[in-house]
Amino acid sequence: RAKEGGRSTYAFFTRELDEQVARRMTVEGWLRRALDTGGVEVFFQPKISQPGNRIAGAEALVRLRHPDGALIPPAEFIPVAENTGLIMPLSALVLREACRCATAWRTGPHQDFVMAVNLSPRQFQQPGLADRIRAILQETATPPEALEFEITENLLLDNRPETLETLSELRRMGAGIALDDFGKEYSSLSYIKKLPVQAIKIDRSFIDGLPGDEDDASIVKSVLSLAQGLELRVVAEGVETRAQLDFLVGLGCSEFQGYLFSKPLPAVDMQTLLGQSDPFPLP
Ligand code: C2E
Ligand code: MG
Ligand code: MG
Ligand code: MG
Repeated sequence: RAKEGGRSTYAFFTRELDEQVARRMTVEGWLRRALDTGGVEVFFQPKISQPGNRIAGAEALVRLRHPDGALIPPAEFIPVAENTGLIMPLSALVLREACRCATAWRTGPHQDFVMAVNLSPRQFQQPGLADRIRAILQETATPPEALEFEITENLLLDNRPETLETLSELRRMGAGIALDDFGKEYSSLSYIKKLPVQAIKIDRSFIDGLPGDEDDASIVKSVLSLAQGLELRVVAEGVETRAQLDFLVGLGCSEFQGYLFSKPLPAVDMQTLLGQSDPFPLP
């Protein structure tokens, strides 16, 4: 009986594995096709800053358009892109589109609009990342100050000196660097000291429980005071309710991103939002 159970467990796992492999190959196929046929789309989620709930910028978030019209979220295809090397052309496409929009949108009241673009650790493993970025900025006539690159702590796990050099080079060019998903993984505080970052984004998992969850509240409070001490900006990610917003404002947090304000939008809708004089009037 035990043996039989063992065997069927084994069979179960191999079937799971087969399915995972098949799924990954399917997604890889979609991704290759999308890269060739314009099926990679970039959405934008506004970043709101207090006071006044102004749109200070947006985060570029990639989507894949399935041949049947459905949108595939990045969690499904970024890992595949990373494992197949397709992350390189994919990221170049996202950056180019983000730059194109940022330059178009930095007019009138939005001259200081900042576009956030996520960088994957894989992009740092090939030499010349800063040069590749610089080339796209030149091609799209985008000033580096218009960009803020979002990195995650796992970028620093393999401790390559080249990574820090690349980040410093991006800083010297004038682009911003933000530490994304702060608190989600290892969050060694020594990283922050080592890194040329100007902003941290508090992971949405800590915003979730606000204002009721006392653990989340005290974590958010300490992150805010840490950031204040280090003179870093703080962005709260995943703000979904008015109660969360009020609580964060009460603690002195002044930048927000979340469904309370807006979901990620196609470029045309983001542009419409930027055309409104007071897009987020909160009573
Ligand atoms: P991220 O960089 O932390 O992006 C924020 C994610 O939180 C986005 O998910 C966004 O839609 C979601 N979000 C924002 N506000 C709320 C909220 O109020 N509630 C909830 N439940 N979710 C909210 P998305 O677009 O699915 O992206 C997931 C992750 O995929 C991103 O997390 C980022 O790590 C990665 N990603 C997205 N675009 C790119 C890209 O162009 N390049 C790379 N390397 N990674 C990307
Ligand atoms: Mg991000
Ligand atoms: Mg994040
Ligand atoms: Mg929680």
